[in-house]
Amino acid sequence: MPRPIRARVDREALLHNYLLAKSHVPGSRAWAVVKANAYGHGLLNAADALAETADGFALLDLDEAVALREAGIRQPILLLEGFFAAEDLELVAEHRLSLVVHRLDQLQLLRQVGLPLRVPVYVKFNTGMNRLGFRPEQLGALRDELARNQAVSEVTLMSHFAEADGDRLAGRGIDWQLAQFRAMVGEWRGPVSLANSAAILRYPQTGRDWVRPGIMLYGSSPFADESAESLGLRPAMTLTSEVIAVQQIAAGERVGYGGLFAAERETRVGVVACGYADGYPRHAPTGTPILVGGWRTRTLGRVSMDMLMVDLTDLREAGVGTPVTLWGEGLSADEVAAAAGTISYELFCALAKRVPVTVA
Ligand SMILES: *Cc1c(COP(=O)(O)O)cnc(C)c1O
Repeated sequence: MPRPIRARVDREALLHNYLLAKSHVPGSRAWAVVKANAYGHGLLNAADALAETADGFALLDLDEAVALREAGIRQPILLLEGFFAAEDLELVAEHRLSLVVHRLDQLQLLRQVGLPLRVPVYVKFNTGMNRLGFRPEQLGALRDELARNQAVSEVTLMSHFAEADGDRLAGRGIDWQLAQFRAMVGEWRGPVSLANSAAILRYPQTGRDWVRPGIMLYGSSPFADESAESLGLRPAMTLTSEVIAVQQIAAGERVGYGGLFAAERETRVGVVACGYADGYPRHAPTGTPILVGGWRTRTLGRVSMDMLMVDLTDLREAGVGTPVTLWGEGLSADEVAAAAGTISYELFCALAKRVPVTVA
């Protein structure tokens, strides 16, 4: 018998969430963002669920792009960080990938390599995120390069929002970046791509030609102050395990490494086969929500490598073998993440290889 932990990926939820993203921006096409192994859900699981529906797939690694082509994906595939070396370009051409370019030398290299066919290019503008992209003072050189570049087919202009998920009242939102974008693109009439999940949901006017939903596909909310459920999203991953032992402890006894939890009353402690080596956040403190036998209870003490402890005192029916949901259906990953001081993105991406993933 393997350990009872597993992650179940729900294809219908992925499809539902993709279509929900599209419904917010009816005139736009949507790149399904499947980087980082589809946010831990399995690249091919996500691609399979969306194969008939997605307008395109966006990710980072050339290997993953090739894997999508080999799995039969025919839609456009966009490399969100572009390419890293001239050698990459042969595969880019062979598999008809689209490229983000964010530095002038990428365009120059593309021109010099002499590919057998032209490549669709997303030119990334840095409008204030200050991560990737061209700054205003580089636009002259960029224009000159694009004018002489025979390796580029269609050009799309893109940018990325830094605060689309910010507090609606206190945050700065997107207007300041949009103003910068407008100033940078001038008279541009070609295609544009701006919006991530947060912008799709909160600022659908930024939908333009192509949107780039990521986290919402997987059923999590990009916002700290709005639940996934209230946004109509369905969890795409449910992480489950079982209670593998029970300890009855007296008031004053402590639980786990460091004895971080001290019982105030007689307490029934359940031991669950899931720990930080499975991807559960070690920072999750006592009180992190968890479902045991479908009932909501709390974790106790410090998460260990392969196990964590839960409070079964009020769950008389629960015992060895009772199913546990760490996150997913019935308990949003967003809630668990918030309790652990992080975001669901990190929980999903941290799901360990040793956790078997099944597809429903
Ligand atoms: C990851 C990523 C996205 C998706 O962001 P979410 O917040 O997950 O929707 C969109 N655009 C770019 C460039 C990205 O790197």
